[in-house]
Amino acid sequence: MSLLRFKMLETALSHKAMEVKAPSNNPSDYFGERVFGRKQMRKYLSKQTYEALVATIESNTPLTQGVADAIAAGMRQWALENGADHYCHWFQPLTGGTAEKHDSFGETDGNGGMLEEFSGKVLTQQEPDASSFPSGGIRNTFEARGYSAWDPTSPAFIVDTTLCIPTLFISYTGEALDYKTPLLRSISAVNKAATDVCRYFDKSVERVYSYLGWEQEFFLIDDSLYSARPDLVQTGRTMMGHEAAKNQQLDDHYFGAIPSRVLAFMKDLEYECLRLGIPLKTRHNEVAPNQFEVAPIYEEANLANDHNQLLITVMHQVATRHNFRVLLHEKPFKGVNGSGKHNNWSLGTDAGVNLLSPGKTAFENLQFITFLVNVIAAVYRHNGLLKASVMSATNEQRLGAGEAPPAIISTFLGTQVSSVLDKIASSHGDTDIRFDAKNAFRMSGLSQIPSLLLDNTDRNRTSPFAFTGNRFEFRALGASDNCAEAMIVLNAAVAEQLADFKRRVDERIERGVKKEKAIYETVREIINECRPIRFDGNGYSDEWREEAARRGLDCETSTPLNFDRLLDERTIRLFERTGVFNKVELEARAEIKREMYVKKIQIEARVLGDLALNHIVPIASKYEGVLLDKVWKMHQLGLDAATDRGLIQNIQDRTATIITLVGEMIECRKRANRIEDIRLRAIAYHDTVAVYFGKIRDHIDRLEEVVDDQIWTLPKYREILFIK
Ligand code: ADP
Ligand code: MG
Repeated sequence: MSLLRFKMLETALSHKAMEVKAPSNNPSDYFGERVFGRKQMRKYLSKQTYEALVATIESNTPLTQGVADAIAAGMRQWALENGADHYCHWFQPLTGGTAEKHDSFGETDGNGGMLEEFSGKVLTQQEPDASSFPSGGIRNTFEARGYSAWDPTSPAFIVDTTLCIPTLFISYTGEALDYKTPLLRSISAVNKAATDVCRYFDKSVERVYSYLGWEQEFFLIDDSLYSARPDLVQTGRTMMGHEAAKNQQLDDHYFGAIPSRVLAFMKDLEYECLRLGIPLKTRHNEVAPNQFEVAPIYEEANLANDHNQLLITVMHQVATRHNFRVLLHEKPFKGVNGSGKHNNWSLGTDAGVNLLSPGKTAFENLQFITFLVNVIAAVYRHNGLLKASVMSATNEQRLGAGEAPPAIISTFLGTQVSSVLDKIASSHGDTDIRFDAKNAFRMSGLSQIPSLLLDNTDRNRTSPFAFTGNRFEFRALGASDNCAEAMIVLNAAVAEQLADFKRRVDERIERGVKKEKAIYETVREIINECRPIRFDGNGYSDEWREEAARRGLDCETSTPLNFDRLLDERTIRLFERTGVFNKVELEARAEIKREMYVKKIQIEARVLGDLALNHIVPIASKYEGVLLDKVWKMHQLGLDAATDRGLIQNIQDRTATIITLVGEMIECRKRANRIEDIRLRAIAYHDTVAVYFGKIRDHIDRLEEVVDDQIWTLPKYREILFIK
C-alpha cells in the first residue's frame, strides 16, 4: 500500500462515532426553534402586523411598506436574541444548490457609531451582485441586474449566526433566474385549475395545494479517503476503481443496522434539521454499502423544496463534524446502486381532502378518479419533458442502468386501480349514470367504485411514476436535483390538463348532459387517450424499451437530445398557457442546461485524462519495471519467465492503449470546443467525448487488478465503501 493511501486509511479507521445528544427525546421541545414561524411571529409582531403577514401568506394580500418595516423589526429582534449577527437573502440559482450573500445588521448611525438596522425594504428586496450566476443570456439581453425578492410563504430561519430569508431571484425585467419563481407560478396554476374542477364536486373549495414529500438518498464516505481521490473531489464520483469483491450482492445493507458512526451523524442531522423546521421522519440504510436515505413528513411543495435545499446544506455541515463527506452524485461508484430523490406528490384542498385518495362514497370516488386520470394524461402528454426536467450529465449515469427507473416515463397504477379504469374505459357511452339515495353508482359492472380500498402493498419499484395509494411517486429525479425542476413540469402539466378537462366537461353540460355523466364520459375518453402511458410490468426489461417505442413514448437516452423537449411547441404552449415560463425564460433554461452538461463532461474528461496519465500509467509502468527486472534476471539463470512476460505484455498493452485513448479524447474535446452552437456542442460532448470514459476506465480497472497493491496510490472501493 502506498504511504499516502496507508495514512489515509489509518486516519479513517481512527475516526470514532461522535457522541451526539439532543437536549430532549421529544422533538416538539426544539422543533422549529431556529425558524421565524407562526409561534415566533405571534411573539415578536403586534397583533395587527401578525394578521397582515398571515393574510399575505394565505391569500397573497400585498404588504404595505409600514407592515414590512414592522415585520423586519420583529424578525431582527428575534434573530439577535437567537445569536444572529448577519442576514442574507437565500435563493436557488440555476447552478444548483443555494446562494447567500451575508450582510451584517450593523449600519452607521451618522454620528460615528453603529446601530443594528434591518428595514422592511432590506427584508423584501435586494440587488445581489449576482452577475456570475447563470442567466442563459437573459441579463445580457435586457439588464445586467438581478433582484432577490422575499417569499413570505417560506419562513426565515437561522443557520449558524445568519438570518436566512428565502427569496425569489429575478431579472430587472421580471424573468425568473432561479427555481423558486417558476415553482411558485406552477403551484398557482395548478391551484387555479384544480380548484375549478373541484367545484364540480364541492362548491366550497377555495384553494388546492400541491404537496411534496421527498426521499433523499446519499452516500457517506470517510473524509480522509475522499481527499485521497481527486476524481471524487472534483467530479463527485469515482471515474475509476475496480469493484470490491463484496458489494451489495448479499443484500445485507438494506434496512440493516446503521453503523454507529453513521447513526451518530444521522442523530446530529435530525436534531439540526428539526430545529430548522424540517420535519425529518425516517432514516435507513439503502441498498448499496454506505448508502442511506432520509425522508420528512410531506409539506406544501414550495416549503418542502426549500427544506430539501436546506437539508443539503445542513448535511454537508454536519458531515464535516463527523469526518464524513456526503456524496449526492447520482452514480458515485460503478457496480453499486446510485442515488435518487423520490418525489411523492399529491393535491389537497383547503378542507383537507386529498384529491388522490379514494373516498368513501361513489361521488368522492368519481372525484378521485377524475384527478387520477388527469394526472396520468398530463404525464402522458409531457412524458418527454418530464424526463428532460430531471436529466443531467450526472443523472444520465443512473437512469436506465437497471437499478433505477428506465429513461422512459410511464405510470404504474396497481392492479385494482388499473382494472377500475379499464372497466370505465370499456363501458358504453349510453349508460345512465347517476347516484342513488345511498350514494351508490348506478352502473353495472362498476360496483367496486364506491368502495375503493386500495392495497398498499401493490408496488412496482421499477416504475418511474407510480401511484402509491394516495399520491404519485416520481422516482426519476437524481439525488442532486432541485425538486422544483420536476415539480414545475408536473404542476404545470396537470394544470393544463385539468383546464382542458373542464372545457370538455362544460361543453357536454352546455349540450344538456347532466354534470355527473359529463364528467364520467370525459374521464372515459381520457382513459382511452392516455392508455400508452400505463405500464405495470418490469420497467428494467429490454422488452419494455421496445414496447415503449411502439407506444410512441419518449425513449431518447441522450441527455442533450432530451433537452430539446424544453423548446418543443407543446412545451412552449404549456408554459405560456399556465404562466409558468415565457419563451425567453425557456430558451435561457435550455441554454443553461446545455452549458452545465458541457462543463460537467469537460471537467470529467480532464480529471480522467490527468489521473490516467499521471497516476495510473506511471504506477503501472513502475510495476512493469520491477517485472522486467525480474524477467531479465530469470533469463540470466535460464529460468522460464513466460508467465511474467505475459503480465508485462498485458500491462504494456493497457498503458499504451490508455495513452492513445486519452490523446484521442483530448482531440475530440478540442473539436467539440470549437463548435459555436451550444446545443451542438453538448451533443458533441455526449457523442464523442463521454464515450471514452468507459473505455479508458476499463483498462485502468484491469490494471488495478494486477498491479502491486503496495504501490497503488488511490484508495480502493473495498476501502472507501465500508465504514467501520
Ligand atoms: P416509501 O419508501 O415506501 O416510498 P417513505 O416513508 O420512505 O416511503 O417515504 C414516503 C414519502 O411520501 C414521505 O416523504 C412522506 O411524507 C410522503 N407522503 C406521504 N403521503 C403523502 C401525500 N399525500 N402527498 C405527498 N407526499 C406524501
Ligand atoms: Mg419511496
